[in-house]
Amino acid sequence: MRIVQKFGGTSVGSLQRIAHTADIVQAELKRGNQIAVVVSAMSGETNRLIAMAHELCTMPAARELDALVATGEQVSAALLAIELQQRGIAAYSHSGGQAGFVTDSRHVRARIKNVDGRHLRAHLEAGEVPVVTGFQGVDELGNITTLGRGGSDTSAVALAIAVDADMCDIYTDVDGIYTTDPRIVPRARKIERIAYEEMLEFASLGAKVLQTRSVELAMRYNMPLHLRSSFEPVTGTMVVQEDDVQEDNSMERATISGVAYNRDEAKITIMGIPDQPGIAAKVFGPVAESGINVDVIVQNVSEQGYTDITFTVPTGDYQQTMEIMRRLCEQMHGRHVKGDDSIAKVSVIGVGMRSHAGVAKDMFDVLAQEGVNIQMITTSEIKITVVIEEKYIELAVRTLHSAFGLDSE
Ligand code: ASP
Ligand code: MG
Repeated sequence: MRIVQKFGGTSVGSLQRIAHTADIVQAELKRGNQIAVVVSAMSGETNRLIAMAHELCTMPAARELDALVATGEQVSAALLAIELQQRGIAAYSHSGGQAGFVTDSRHVRARIKNVDGRHLRAHLEAGEVPVVTGFQGVDELGNITTLGRGGSDTSAVALAIAVDADMCDIYTDVDGIYTTDPRIVPRARKIERIAYEEMLEFASLGAKVLQTRSVELAMRYNMPLHLRSSFEPVTGTMVVQEDDVQEDNSMERATISGVAYNRDEAKITIMGIPDQPGIAAKVFGPVAESGINVDVIVQNVSEQGYTDITFTVPTGDYQQTMEIMRRLCEQMHGRHVKGDDSIAKVSVIGVGMRSHAGVAKDMFDVLAQEGVNIQMITTSEIKITVVIEEKYIELAVRTLHSAFGLDSE
């Protein structure tokens, strides 16, 4: 098999960890596999570099920031190559540009245009181990670019696709995706196989194991991902096509794969604004321009020609969004703006929902029995999300996890 192994910051966080990572690479080579490696910067390094730039200047040029932070991954790639060479392995470091990553020119948040895998494929066929810097590439003019925080996951998946790998192993400090947060539900189970689409829902709900873009990319090219721990040699979670998700001993798949939550949410309501075409665009335009991500949205018709719009934003953007809304409300002669930052979001996720009616009703029943009031609801084909008071979040997660049969025996 041809495998791309990606190691995150903690897996290359010290010389000792680098040696341990080399053990993992070596073991996989011994099994007869061809290996290309993608590394992150040593943990904390990217933050350290960015902080230095900001000490010099409040708004450092994005081009120079990229040149600066790209060094983090060069350090860990070179160190890992040195360690592997010392063991007699033909391993060579490659920067993003050397490895064939071409991106657009949007510094600090570049997108990959294409990866020319010919060069590295030749190295792999010669039995070598390319060690590639994650997170970076070059634009068409040769400027160094980076892919946004957490970008080396996306580098790894893109490389796996470019060299026709059979799969991409993502090594991190957790050993997979769980049916919910084990800190809240000790009986949460590790999910053996999960569909790309489910993984996207988990990722966008704040399961910070993978950059969301990397899952989108893997899904588009059907590249299997194995999320696993570099600390413990156990099988992790496979992220695969929906058709390839099958529980080993059950004929049918469970309806719900997991319960996710996010406390980092705030709710804002703008009341008594004119109910007319273009009003939603007017409300959300300035929010989007500020780069704030709006999530759940509910619009209600109130009295005679007026409407209320309620929506959620990340807690960190709450104050700024409140200011934007107050200004807008005044301009539109609206009635009032109301905010609440002690809310949270809980979701049940599962591709099994597509073929099972009534999941939403079951979820609402369970929450009602516990006396949890639902403030907002939103659904997709494979997810139902409700907004509730933050103080009930643990109760909600625990009861939903058990009601949907996810607790381990
Ligand atoms: N080192 C980069 C970061 O911290 C990229 C990565 O680790 O994925 O964001
Ligand atoms: Mg990461």
